[in-house]
Amino acid sequence: MARLPVLALVGRPNVGKSTLFNRLTRSRAALVADVPGLTRDRQYGRGRSGERSFIVIDSGGFEPVAKSGIAVEMARQTRQAVLEADTVVFVVDGREGLTAHDMEIARELRRTAQRVFVAVNKTEGMPRAQVAAEFHELGLGDPLPISAAHGDGVRDMIEIAFEHMGDAGMPETQPGEDEAEAAEPGESKRAAARRKAAARAESAAAQEAARQPEGVEGAEAGAPEAPRRVRVAVVGRPNAGKSTLINTLLGEERLIAFDQPGTTRDSVEIEFERGGRPYTLIDTAGLRRRGKVTDMVEKFSVVKTLQAIEDCNVCVLLLDAAEQVSEQDATIASYILEAGRALVVAVNKWDLADAEARQRLRGELDRKLHFLGFARLLHLSALEGTGIAALMRAIDGAYAAATAKLSTPRLTRAMQEAVEKQAPPKRGPFRPKLRYAHQGGRNPPIIVIHGSGLDNIGDTYRRFLEGWFRDKFKLEGTPLRIEFRSSA
Ligand code: GDP
Ligand code: GDP
Repeated sequence: MARLPVLALVGRPNVGKSTLFNRLTRSRAALVADVPGLTRDRQYGRGRSGERSFIVIDSGGFEPVAKSGIAVEMARQTRQAVLEADTVVFVVDGREGLTAHDMEIARELRRTAQRVFVAVNKTEGMPRAQVAAEFHELGLGDPLPISAAHGDGVRDMIEIAFEHMGDAGMPETQPGEDEAEAAEPGESKRAAARRKAAARAESAAAQEAARQPEGVEGAEAGAPEAPRRVRVAVVGRPNAGKSTLINTLLGEERLIAFDQPGTTRDSVEIEFERGGRPYTLIDTAGLRRRGKVTDMVEKFSVVKTLQAIEDCNVCVLLLDAAEQVSEQDATIASYILEAGRALVVAVNKWDLADAEARQRLRGELDRKLHFLGFARLLHLSALEGTGIAALMRAIDGAYAAATAKLSTPRLTRAMQEAVEKQAPPKRGPFRPKLRYAHQGGRNPPIIVIHGSGLDNIGDTYRRFLEGWFRDKFKLEGTPLRIEFRSSA
């Protein structure tokens, strides 16, 4: 299973945790930057440093637990995140020096965290070693001086954080290498398949590009494939109805075979077939067998949810028609987008929603989850079993879109049409020149555009191209990535 390593940032307010979080997750931050209230409060993200990907959690600093509703749940979640993190980075402020609150947090971390080290922030322009030395007193090993604002020491910090985890989170694709046919030791079949697919797409596209004049339609490569086992993760808040949905999908009689709950960190995988097509369900809820007294087999875990997202082809984000769309829904949604997974948004418990509730929900979805416009939205009742066929169709459709093969000639022609319709704006005296496009990966589809002066292409034009390709190739249900490669 493709687990990403998990890093939790802990520390008192104002030491620079969100600055560090933003630096670590910057690669995709722009995607969700225009979501009101989301980037500011976001606590979970997908980090990148060098080649390594990881889950990063800004988990606050063990503040006294809030007393009401959502806040309690959030506080519980951040504590749980510390327990589940592979490494905790305890951030302290090098300008302010060691405080009593820092000592308190250190005490708690020594008890609860699996692995922790101290990052002394804001040390740019200071005598680093000297500043850091003071924090030895925390009793958490050698403090590492960093500057979150300037980036100093941040890459080293990540390497230290995960040095005990080998190449966890390193990319599975090595285009251009010939070893691409066999699975690596310890690599899952699916990971190997993904790596191979990407390597194939890259080399096939390069050959095609070299061979074919631009704008000429070529035959689509490849013979028809046997249906692949589609990996589906059902995610959503506690009580959204995940277990009920999985029960309904499987039917009572099939549950007998799946009596083993996973560990707290891992999800349970369930294989099933529907309409002759094989699926693997990744169950983050911990299947609850009806009629059993011990209902809560496992507790909800954000980290487990994020890992399930990493490990699926298609994500079903289950919302609860009886509740408001919450920050947590939006966080999970934005993570799905960052991970590039295909997505179906399903509003469950539709049987409970009267006309007024339906109206309210539409408004909330538009406001809070508008960045999921690429995904199909449907309504169902897991309890009553309505809307299930439509859900499965949407899953199949999203998978097909996410794994579509897009030939270089078709992509290049669509690109040229887009440019005719609307040329990329000039920056200074130069107009970017788009020459040809090839597919750089699947699930999500990556469209690589080659040309010159492409570094100057802004987000607006990128979004225009994205919409254009999405429309042309009917890519509903999957995020789409556009990458530019300039040859001059
Ligand atoms: P948080 O409350 O721990 O999330 O802290 P923030 O990330 O909001 O940062 C608090 C303040 O410290 C802000 O004014 C930041 O600009 C500042 N800050 C963060 N990192 C650095 C740094 O590396 N150097 C300096 N000089 N200031 C920083
Ligand atoms: P999970 O925590 O996401 O796995 O949620 P569960 O599947 O345990 O469901 C939580 C509660 O919502 C249970 O009491 C279910 O019976 C109820 N529930 C689930 N789906 C529906 C639905 O479609 N309609 C109604 N009315 N209740 C539902």
